Parts: sequence; C-alpha cells; structure tokens
Amino acid sequence: MDQDYMWSLFLDRDGVINERIPGAYIKDWNDFQFTPGTLEAFAHFNQIFGRVFIVTNQQGIGKGLMTQDDLSVLHQKMEAAIITHGGRIDGIYTCPDLASQTNNCRKPNPALALQAKADFPDVDFSSSIMVGDSLSDIQFGQKLGMRTVLIDTKEDEREQWAVARTAGWKPHLSLPNLASLTAHIPDLVS
Ligand SMILES: [Mg+2]
Repeated sequence: MDQDYMWSLFLDRDGVINERIPGAYIKDWNDFQFTPGTLEAFAHFNQIFGRVFIVTNQQGIGKGLMTQDDLSVLHQKMEAAIITHGGRIDGIYTCPDLASQTNNCRKPNPALALQAKADFPDVDFSSSIMVGDSLSDIQFGQKLGMRTVLIDTKEDEREQWAVARTAGWKPHLSLPNLASLTAHIPDLVS
C-alpha cells in the first residue's frame, strides 16, 4: 500500500471484537469475551491504519438495562487489554438510542462516523474500511463510500441479506472473523 495514504478502520463491536450474546446485551466486563485472534489483530492494525475507531449501537442503554457509565467502564477495560497487546483505539462512538426512536443515531445512520470525522478531520471515508457482522454495518459503510467487510456469522440475518443484495447492498469482502482481515488488507486498500 501507499505509505503516504492514511487509511482509517471502523469496527463494529459485538460479533466482531467480542462474542455477541444473541438476544442479550453485554452489560459488564464479565460478559465480554474477545473473539479469537482479535487482540493480536489489533496490534497488526496499529501498524497499518492511521486511525482505528469502534462504532457501536448499544440500545441496552436506551432500554435502561445499563448506564452510560457501565458502558464506559467496560470500554476502558476493553481498551486497556487492546493497548496491553500492542493495539490502539482512537475513538469509541456509541449510539444509546432505541431502534424505535425516530431520527436515532444507530447504524446504518452515519451519525457515529460523522462524530469521528468531527473529532479527526483528516479521516477520509473513501480511504476507510468498515467491518461489521450486520447488514446495518455494511449499509453504514457503503453509504459513506467506505470499503466494507462482513463478518458473516449471523444466521438470523440470512433472509434479510437475500433481499438486501437484490437492492444493491453488498460487502466488498465476507470473512469468518476479524482476525482473518489482516491477510486481506493489502487488497482492500489497493
Ligand atoms: Mg455487531
């Protein structure tokens, strides 16, 4: 890749960085389990990407199941583990809104990426990769002109994807986990 070109990496959290718990929310550190190889992958990302962000919908806050402070404590522990393993996170952007709220900030709404851009004006969405395990993550990235990577593990979205593909939503790449992204970065950024 061109070393003068600054690429940004946007990562969904649940189902990408950590194991998701279908039908439940990760409310504290005891529920949080990194996906295999992810901590090592962060060390690799640190050498390649100018910026590394997490963009995550957390409507458990909107539902009153946890507080913003609970989430901040969890994210401090997550970030500390990533840093210990040689990684880095430049920003964690969270949407606490309920999906039922109109004008919510949840992906696929680009609000969380626009917050990152406001904090780091050098971020260029056309030189960014978005990685997520949901259709909404791919729609979020695709709308912003990012390269998109689907962590293709959500059995419960298969039917939604069949419809979405006919409407033109399509990830640049599908992978089984975040750790396998490292081998594909040169192709994605070329
Ligand atoms: Mg997810």
